[in-house]
Amino acid sequence: MTLPLLDTNDPAEVPRPGAALVEVAVNTQQPARTPFTYSVPDGHSLEPGHAVFVPFGPRILQGIVVATTDSTTLQAVRPVAAIADPDPVLDAAHIALARWLAEEYFAPLWDCIACCLPSGYGQKPVTMVSPVDVPALLPIYPKDQRILQYIAGHGRVSLEEMREHVGPVSLTLLERMQRDGQLTVAQGLARPSGRPRFERRVGLSAEPDAARAHAAALLGRNPKSVEARVLQHLLLHPDVTLTEVRELGANPPHLARLEAAGMLRQFEQRVERDPLADYRFVQKPPAQLSDDQQAAADACWANPGTTLIHGVTGSGKTEVYLEVVRRTLEEGRGAIVLVPEIALTPQAIRRYGERFGGTLTVLHSQLSQGELFDQWFRIQRGDARLVVGSRSAVFAPVKDLGLVVLDEEHEWSYKQVDPQPRYHAREAAERLCALTGARLILGSATPDIVTYHRSELGSIQRVELGQRLAPLAGGGIGEGRLPNVEIVDMREELRGGNRSVFSRPLRRAIHAALGAGEQTILFVNRRGSARFLLCRDCGYLPLCPSCAVAMSLDVQSPLHQMLTCHHCGRSRRLEERCPKCDGPRYRPFGVGTQRIEQEAKAYFQHARVARWDSDVSRQKGSHERMVQALEAHEIDILVGTQMLAKGLDLPEMTVVGVVDADVGLSLPDYHAQERTFQLLSQVAGRAGRREKPGWVYIQTYEPEAAPIVAAATHQFRPFYEEEIAHRRRAGYPPFNRLVRLTYRHGKQEHALEEASRVATELRLARDTAGRAEPDILGPTPAYIPRIRGEYRYQLLMRGRAPSRLLDGIRLGENWHVDVDPASLI
Ligand code: ADP
Ligand code: ZN
Repeated sequence: MTLPLLDTNDPAEVPRPGAALVEVAVNTQQPARTPFTYSVPDGHSLEPGHAVFVPFGPRILQGIVVATTDSTTLQAVRPVAAIADPDPVLDAAHIALARWLAEEYFAPLWDCIACCLPSGYGQKPVTMVSPVDVPALLPIYPKDQRILQYIAGHGRVSLEEMREHVGPVSLTLLERMQRDGQLTVAQGLARPSGRPRFERRVGLSAEPDAARAHAAALLGRNPKSVEARVLQHLLLHPDVTLTEVRELGANPPHLARLEAAGMLRQFEQRVERDPLADYRFVQKPPAQLSDDQQAAADACWANPGTTLIHGVTGSGKTEVYLEVVRRTLEEGRGAIVLVPEIALTPQAIRRYGERFGGTLTVLHSQLSQGELFDQWFRIQRGDARLVVGSRSAVFAPVKDLGLVVLDEEHEWSYKQVDPQPRYHAREAAERLCALTGARLILGSATPDIVTYHRSELGSIQRVELGQRLAPLAGGGIGEGRLPNVEIVDMREELRGGNRSVFSRPLRRAIHAALGAGEQTILFVNRRGSARFLLCRDCGYLPLCPSCAVAMSLDVQSPLHQMLTCHHCGRSRRLEERCPKCDGPRYRPFGVGTQRIEQEAKAYFQHARVARWDSDVSRQKGSHERMVQALEAHEIDILVGTQMLAKGLDLPEMTVVGVVDADVGLSLPDYHAQERTFQLLSQVAGRAGRREKPGWVYIQTYEPEAAPIVAAATHQFRPFYEEEIAHRRRAGYPPFNRLVRLTYRHGKQEHALEEASRVATELRLARDTAGRAEPDILGPTPAYIPRIRGEYRYQLLMRGRAPSRLLDGIRLGENWHVDVDPASLI
């Protein structure tokens, strides 16, 4: 992409009435939430979606046209400098989606546009240094000499590259050398990192008879002729890579001679980097759906809007998605299926590939940038009409989008944390579907309370799949059973003299499983932390009276043990004994996976114990290796964190032990109950998925807690009712929305001061507008008050549309705004 760049110093012109103007989202360093206005150069026409280059201050920057207009209130506008691509790169729906993201999530417009562009398309401005033909002055200083030597040898280079080779070089130094006529400094654009890849190939261009004759002649002169060998190879394979002929011993002169003789031609061809290249899909016909599944698929199909499929794990939801995908593709439209990153396993990909192989592609974070880039264009061309991917695949440029599916819609990994925009894929998908007229299906065994509430209000449709299915070993499908779940009261265990992390019932069950050659999972809550207190005798958790979340030990004041609410800042001195029962065992809690692994090895001496937590899972391919080891039955007991909960489907997995079910309940986050319920249901669902029954032991100090009882009895409804009532009382979503603002700074006083300034401004703005809401809570130290030497303070806004208040507020770079945060921790 070479640019016919116009003069960067075009004078701003007074816009003529009725002149063609465009609004451009610009890739600036300083984030901007609105587009900038430019005029369209004479003789050109621009549409929304065109990629352009525009003057911005002294620089030329990349931009995307988001709208055309013929009027502006500006006194003067500058013309667009160049058009990067004759065809628009974005369609109207994605431009509208990006503008909505910027509004909704209070994010820079360009960053929202960039979500919808191919990976690596963005070009940042860079400083370029070039040599001059005849330096006006000879260099005196050694550093100057080295700089000149470097550009004499390398030509035009970026400042960054120069610094890598020459050492620290300041812009001031370069500008001085420019004034001395020794070099030139200019602003340019970095090459986009996403680019098509080309491959050099060699093809037979002569008629086969002619080639055979030529080869024979060569062999007559030299029986070992390399050129003859190349021709013989091409006669069998008339179009091969250059590498392949080089491996036959051919060098460039050999090929040049054959080319000159009209025997072959060398050319470049674009290659598609394909993430599914290693898969061989055996096409499978659709499954014969059960009556329930058929009814669910029909209901989704009949509804042009959003449908929630609520069905326990293994109830056949995926088969319903596959059926609606099939109908959508048959109708000539495209589909996107989103799954949580961690659930995007080869097994999951295979299920879609076996049904829709040719038109399937996948998008997820493990792909190379080249793969992402090529697949983006393949989707845009309409060659791939079904995309299965994680969160960001919602932005895939699928043609004639007819369907989006979000599996496990309650998963909070659908919410992006960093970088901006901090969007939720479910909300983005719903917006996209509204813009394109596509259907949306949300599926879950444990729906998000907010989603379920919407289905109760009737604003989205809900269908239920009540029965678990069990694939039979001999083929076919039977009625599956949910596992038997026992809640183990750890207070009783303590009273009975058992101080180990394993209760007696769990120990018995593990022994039985080991005896029968079956497998066990021990689940440990990674988010358990020694900062929460729990009374071992009565299960009391200290809660903030105004925020109804757990208070935690304040790590900033280790000498005076204080309990703090990290939402509102309320704090009190830590009591010596439990305030409820006056018991002495009122202590912080939480155990790690390593400790459980050690204990498991000590208790079950002949068992093969493995551990799987975030340390282990960071290694690439670890998930597959772990699943393989489990399948090959090289592991008897697996100790791990919530990552285990996803996707494991093993016939011999019969016992699940949840070591510390209540840890998550104490987190200072209004999601704590919901997350605990979701997690326990997921983990319990790993046991007894085939013919053998499953046994689940939930160890807890709070055996009456609603999420624990609900997960043990596989009952969503009572849990939902209790939770929604609680949220209504406390004013949490869906009855309000939250915005979290976090400020970080190396100086604590400054951080607090700035956070207080914004809190005051927000309250003032609210009061001036004569509004009673949103509530503005804080500033308080963030849950993790100090990260990498920076102090963090946070504000929480709670109200019907709290982000509207942000418009008039100055927020510098160190502010972090999260609308509808997935976690308050
Ligand atoms: P979910 O997505 O709700 O967890 P799945 O769609 O994965 O459920 O179904 C659970 C198991 O039952 C899978 O192994 C699936 O292949 C199988 N299954 C589901 N529906 C059918 C059907 N109609 N016929 C045959 N097997 C089915
Ligand atoms: Zn509080």
